[in-house]
Amino acid sequence: MKGFQQTLKNKITIAGQALHSGKMVSVNLIPQPVNTGILFSRSDLSEKPVIAAKPGNVIDTVKNMTLGTEEWRIQTIEHLMAALHGLRVDNLLIEVDGSELPLGDGSARYFAKKIKEVGLTTQKQPRKVRRITSPVWVMNGNTTHSYLIALPGKGLRISYCFTSDHKVTGNQFAQYEITPENFWTELAGARTIAFSRELEELRKQGLALGGNIDAAVVVGEDSYLNELRYDDEIVRHKILDILGDLYLLGPVEGEIVAIRSGHKLDLELAIKLESLLE
Ligand SMILES: [Zn+2]
Repeated sequence: MKGFQQTLKNKITIAGQALHSGKMVSVNLIPQPVNTGILFSRSDLSEKPVIAAKPGNVIDTVKNMTLGTEEWRIQTIEHLMAALHGLRVDNLLIEVDGSELPLGDGSARYFAKKIKEVGLTTQKQPRKVRRITSPVWVMNGNTTHSYLIALPGKGLRISYCFTSDHKVTGNQFAQYEITPENFWTELAGARTIAFSRELEELRKQGLALGGNIDAAVVVGEDSYLNELRYDDEIVRHKILDILGDLYLLGPVEGEIVAIRSGHKLDLELAIKLESLLE
């Protein structure tokens, strides 16, 4: 985890369809100087407002991570954030010409591939890593019995326990040491989960218009409805989401253990860690 801060070698543009609105959006990733961190901006608004990717700027965690204010928002930031955390991009401005990032293929590969193509440049300041120094946890014991636990550890390691009585998915457990290499080969390609029934419902409500069948692992009644990229793709995507959500803190070092958790608990843990760690 040691080393120097990094940014992209050059500006890149990534375009694609947004999940919820179905609109085409274009995203510019613009290199930034040391100690900037990750910033998002709405380039389609006249003021071009900028917001830092920090826990206090999250306004919604239902099904995705959303940054914003009362006036404007940028939603579905988590897969790009996972790519930045996984590939170790410290400083970047992300300009979006709409209220939502493109869905791409439902994974982080879509963003990570472009970032790897343009390459990273090393900057002249050491990385600022938040090290977990004692156990910290958050839980939701009322309904889902979900837990998210942070422990001290070298590097960053994330474990996830996915439980389901659905016969197609079953229970899934996975644990990864997060390095740029592991991120790219084991996690970046894991797509988000969708149940075939839910898709119908969302379409009726006008949501998920941009969700084509191959941008998710689609779980049917008796089988997956598309080809998997990994046998345990669902749990790998859960780890990817945590990696993205925790990047609201900047680079993190420690051991993360998650049981059935989601974006809401991720944010609660990030807020707690932010108040405890330097
Ligand atoms: Zn996700």
